[in-house]
Amino acid sequence: MSDKPEAGRNAKQEKAQFPEPETTSVHIFPEWCKGCGICVAFCPKQVLEMGKDQKAHVAHPEKCIRCYLCARRCPDFAVSVYGHTRKAEEKRNEGTDGEK
Ligand code: SF4
Ligand code: SF4
Repeated sequence: MSDKPEAGRNAKQEKAQFPEPETTSVHIFPEWCKGCGICVAFCPKQVLEMGKDQKAHVAHPEKCIRCYLCARRCPDFAVSVYGHTRKAEEKRNEGTDGEK
């Protein structure tokens, strides 16, 4: 007996529970960032920039394509990439001023 129909059903159920994110946000944990610039160099969309504080910053979050290259390449696990539904993103941004 094949397990294909079962796998298909599980995938559908999973998609219903975890909808495809509509927006992305990237977060740099400054206390873990050692300023090596690897994430900045590998980002294909120039989302990240090095700041005067020698830490990586998210300069253009709207350009992020959620490729995870930054998070995968960071030697100090200082980058997280999140996907959000539009509603969750609006709720998350309530009360934040977006300052670096
Ligand atoms: S790769 Fe990691 S440690 Fe290096 S600059 Fe980026 S966030 Fe900082
Ligand atoms: S997920 Fe990809 S596009 Fe987004 S900031 Fe990281 S490297 Fe750049």
